[in-house]
Amino acid sequence: MAYLTFKDINKIYPNGFHAVHNFNLEVEKGEFIVFVGPSGCGKSTTLRMVAGLENISSGEFLINGQRVNEKGPREREIAMVFQSYALYPHMSVYDNLAFGRTLQGVDEDVIEQKVMKTAKILGLTEYLDRKPRALSGGQRQRVAVGRAIIRKVGVFLMDEPLSNLDAKQRVTMRSEITQIHRQTGATTIYVTHDQTEAMTMADRIVVMKEGYVQQVGTPYDLYFNPVNVFVAGFIGEPPMNFIKGTVNNGCLKVGKSDVKLSMIVSEKTVAEHEGKEVFLGFRPEHAILTKGSAPADSICFTGTVELTELLGDNTNVYIDIDGINAILKIDPHDTPSLDEEIGFAIPKGSAYLFDGETEDRLTV
Ligand code: ATP
Repeated sequence: MAYLTFKDINKIYPNGFHAVHNFNLEVEKGEFIVFVGPSGCGKSTTLRMVAGLENISSGEFLINGQRVNEKGPREREIAMVFQSYALYPHMSVYDNLAFGRTLQGVDEDVIEQKVMKTAKILGLTEYLDRKPRALSGGQRQRVAVGRAIIRKVGVFLMDEPLSNLDAKQRVTMRSEITQIHRQTGATTIYVTHDQTEAMTMADRIVVMKEGYVQQVGTPYDLYFNPVNVFVAGFIGEPPMNFIKGTVNNGCLKVGKSDVKLSMIVSEKTVAEHEGKEVFLGFRPEHAILTKGSAPADSICFTGTVELTELLGDNTNVYIDIDGINAILKIDPHDTPSLDEEIGFAIPKGSAYLFDGETEDRLTV
């Protein structure tokens, strides 16, 4: 197991494109870290710098306190699983698993023991004689993971390893990878653009946008304490609702409601934003249908139902609040009718306020 230190790391590609800006992070031994963000945010570039596949333009990367900027991929004791499994097509599953260790000059008996143990962990024992083309996508992915965990390494890197699988296989592999991580205890960095994968697998998540780290935190931190509009909107499904408006007499007009902003932040912060734009944010799942009576300590709204989606365990209700669109996630038994005017409340502790210009969260 290894611990990792990223110190002010930048990546500028030869064409001058600045892909990663001042990346700082400490990864503890055995941690499962997920880099998440939209396409092009720099997560793969950062992972490739960890692997030694991409040089670091400035800053330092340390493994167990030792600078490794100048070390090649083989000297870093790192195993990597790519999106495109990278299996040897002409070799059996057994040989694909054994190959890394054969290269390292390990004894045949030891190799066999290791292969059998790894195959057992991954449920591949009965496929050891098959060639990759005779396996399903999920099975190939397991071989790719197996090839990485069979080597004894301190750091395990995965770049969108589940993206070629269907939705059901992804859910299964997600928990398998989490279990393998528990068994091996290897420090892991996992790259994905899928916030659900990040939320379900990570000890800590690094959210990136356009080459900049936006926030580093546990799934709980990111969901309940997002630092800005981007993180608040990226984590959670359906995403957080945002209503932009100008602060007037300490209130934000949203359709028929005048939202008293001191219910969310201090009077001082509200006063500082008088006449300025802010975003009011609330998550779809925090909406409570009011059916006439407004609960105490809540922010109340009225809107017209435009569409409902019954998903089984809940219903997504798309509403229009005087030209503003929002989504509510409610109990399917309470599903309203189309065009119905409904009232709903957000408990004041579940409402968020963001600066309209910087998009940073206002917390006090
Ligand atoms: P994706 O999810 O699409 O893989 P990503 O977050 O992993 O995205 P990167 O692959 O790290 O993004 O790319 C970050 C940015 O750097 C992108 O804008 C990309 O176009 C750019 N980039 C990547 N490789 C190079 C290169 N060799 N030369 C110049 N720019 C590059």
